[in-house]
Amino acid sequence: MVVGLSWSRLRGVLDLLWRLQAPEMLKFFAWQLAHGIISTQQLLWARHVGLDTFCFNCHFSREDLYHLFFECNNAMAVWASMGITILVTRATLAKSSWLRGWYTVHGVLGLVVLWEIWLARNSLLFKNNKIPSHVIASRTWGLYGLILRTFRQLVVHQEERWVPCILPSLAQVVIHIDRSALGSPGPARYGGLCKDNSGRWQCGFYGDVGITDNLHA
Ligand SMILES: [Zn+2]
Repeated sequence: MVVGLSWSRLRGVLDLLWRLQAPEMLKFFAWQLAHGIISTQQLLWARHVGLDTFCFNCHFSREDLYHLFFECNNAMAVWASMGITILVTRATLAKSSWLRGWYTVHGVLGLVVLWEIWLARNSLLFKNNKIPSHVIASRTWGLYGLILRTFRQLVVHQEERWVPCILPSLAQVVIHIDRSALGSPGPARYGGLCKDNSGRWQCGFYGDVGITDNLHA
């Protein structure tokens, strides 16, 4: 058992991680988050490793989990550009069950955002490369879409439904097109088919349009 964790808290964390359909790197990151052992300046300083606790990005506040992921200006810009409203406070993160609550609301996407903010923070720290918030958001959507495709979370079971069709005149075809996005925004695809004047299928097509919302899909 991890030192300092009650059985109920550890059980909750493990339940979450076992169910998580995501790469191992993201699972391990989530495990570190749940245990509060992400190596922020605050944590390192508390363990007598770092020289101070200031955030590398804004040089203004103490870099703890809350500041790094939710309070720092760069992090807030990422959430804003992704259209995600944050209802997390520093007091929230002090609760042992915060990650389960976070995952319940935001799913894998919520973990991917935190992961990309963490990578951007490390890029600034170790490579002196500051990654703009819109790039972090773009990378988040890219990794999230990849995870959905890889772990087949795009499969949505729906009941079969007939739709009306007006058949074309002789020597003409009718084209039916539909599209959807899983989430708003989320991974989006389109598909269609052509029928002749007797209703016979002539050809079909489909494709991937990346990450967008239902309106633009
Ligand atoms: Zn900061």
